[in-house]
Amino acid sequence: MPELHDSLSPLFDELLARNPGEREFHQAAREVLESLGPVVAMHPEYADAEVLRMLCEPERQIIFRIPWVDDRGRVQVNRGFRVEFNSALGPYKGGLRFHPSVNLGIVKFLGFEQIFKNALTGLPIGGAKGGSDFDPKGRSDAEVMRFCQSLMTELYRHMGEYTDVPAGDIGVGGRELGYLFGQYKRITNRYESGTLTGKGLSWGGSQVRTEATGYGLVFFVQEMLAAQGGSLDGMRVVVSGSGNVAIHAIEKITQLGGTVVACSDSGGYVVDDQGIDLDLVKEIKNGRRGRISEYPEARPGSRYIADGSIWDVACDVALPCATQNELDEASAGALIRNGCTVVAEGANMPCTPGAIRLFAEHGLRFAPGKAANAGGVATSALEMQQNASRDAWPFDYTEARLAGIMRGVHERCLTTAETYGSPGSYVAGANIAGFTRVADAMLAFGVV
Ligand code: NDP
Repeated sequence: MPELHDSLSPLFDELLARNPGEREFHQAAREVLESLGPVVAMHPEYADAEVLRMLCEPERQIIFRIPWVDDRGRVQVNRGFRVEFNSALGPYKGGLRFHPSVNLGIVKFLGFEQIFKNALTGLPIGGAKGGSDFDPKGRSDAEVMRFCQSLMTELYRHMGEYTDVPAGDIGVGGRELGYLFGQYKRITNRYESGTLTGKGLSWGGSQVRTEATGYGLVFFVQEMLAAQGGSLDGMRVVVSGSGNVAIHAIEKITQLGGTVVACSDSGGYVVDDQGIDLDLVKEIKNGRRGRISEYPEARPGSRYIADGSIWDVACDVALPCATQNELDEASAGALIRNGCTVVAEGANMPCTPGAIRLFAEHGLRFAPGKAANAGGVATSALEMQQNASRDAWPFDYTEARLAGIMRGVHERCLTTAETYGSPGSYVAGANIAGFTRVADAMLAFGVV
């Protein structure tokens, strides 16, 4: 593990002691702190004002009970979370995740990452994350609705256009956001579009928001390749997951001339050397809420592998788009042996620290999620702009804005990495550029 700067080591020890058992939060914080050595050396004012100590402590953490009644009339009780981590740059902003693995440590890691990601977009949004250990898999629409209504019955009091603006994440898509917004509107008796993003197009949503994280990821990869004189044309790409981010990444890669040869879900992965049939994936995952294992039935020549790693499939570009820590050192080794040269994170923190170290040692270009998947939250901010001005922009215009933002994020990463002595490192660039923007605002505000 790389050493921390002398002044950051005690801070990290304190973070471990104050947040016991929150493994993912420790991992996310460590990764940022490892990049900040040159910054604290150059700018002692950040340490003097304890900006980092404040940044590592969420401004507010809300944990609440979510009782609801299932289709058999039985009472179920889940736990809800909202960690409002930092509001130095704007209202708290970040998605809600519904997955049985959700706990405080996961929400804190996601909220912490979100601070820097949001800062990196250059837009006026703070960092937050939330969700519940509720598992929507196998639940009826009516059960999902009752659960969402119960969650919102507590969460609404913490939300607001200028306070906290949630969105979707794993397990929270158009259906869930509809139920959430409906209940918010009912309880408050106000049509406040700007309090939630990822809304449907007929009720205040933005064009391109659904596509934004996956499209933005591919725009970022395009920039990474262009920086070395390359393009996606003819590239063989592996994308893990088959949810919102993965589906739209596959769509944009295909539009730009690349071939996606594998994708997955939590049960296993499919390999299709002809190129993944995206309409089929959408039909299986979105249409019938089925499993990716159903893919080969309709696609002769493709195969499904239940036990194994999608990262064993040879590719030029790898895009992990499922979940945290899904690509470990062994997977990184397989990618390197098979000739992969670019890895960009569509998911949040999908690559383990060991995998990232291997990429660096072998000269792969690696983009962390807080840069590469920033297109989702950036387009959420564009949705907020449209809501505030009672406007609705066309698809092409909104997509062009997204592409411009991703170019800006890419540029900011590279110039910042250069300035602080790590040329070419997207990890250093993203962490430092995100941090300095937030830290400067916090310095201006004093001890609050
Ligand atoms: P979805 O719920 O739409 O899709 C998640 C996909 O990942 C599904 O294919 C799911 O498989 C798979 N998956 C989930 N958990 C696991 C697991 N433990 N092991 C293996 N596979 C798993 O979520 P999104 O596409 O929205 O999110 C994917 C990632 O992208 C997350 O890390 C999220 O935080 C990040 N992200 C999302 C943004 C957005 O705008 N949606 C914005 C920025 C980042 P299965 O169907 O079997 O559950």
